[in-house]
Amino acid sequence: MAQEATLVLIKPDATAAHHIGDIIKRYESESLTVIAVRMMKMTRELASKHYAEHIGRPYYEDLVGFMTSGPLVAMVLQGEDAIARVRAINGKTNPAEADEGTIRKLYAFSGSRNAVHASDSPASSAREIPLFFSAAEIFD
Ligand code: ADP
Ligand code: MG
Repeated sequence: MAQEATLVLIKPDATAAHHIGDIIKRYESESLTVIAVRMMKMTRELASKHYAEHIGRPYYEDLVGFMTSGPLVAMVLQGEDAIARVRAINGKTNPAEADEGTIRKLYAFSGSRNAVHASDSPASSAREIPLFFSAAEIFD
């Protein structure tokens, strides 16, 4: 498997609940490397780009309200098969369906306030990473 890079967001719920360190520790303990990281507040404009495929869905306004409600931590993780591995570490979108030990099982409040985002494919990571980081901010 090739080295991959994936975009992770520690969402405002997990940031407010003091889980930034726990979550980064989990990724690093599985040999994923942080190659970019920044705390920031998502604007509605950035939300509409990042979540473009969700515009018009019934939960979209709630999702944008939540994602812009407080600071989040954006990062790029690099490693072997990183995209699928990070999705597995995060667990299913709805914490009620997430496996024991996954980040969402441990820290998510609900299917919308669910602690973390991660790119779901190589096409998604290639699209999402430049929305958050310039080439000079990525240490690969
Ligand atoms: P994932 O984050 O696991 O890739 P999706 O891409 O399907 O999940 O959805 C993006 C985000 O939108 C979810 O993480 C969640 O915050 C929110 N979301 C998705 N589906 C719902 C829903 N049915 N109700 C409320 N929020 C949702
Ligand atoms: Mg998704």
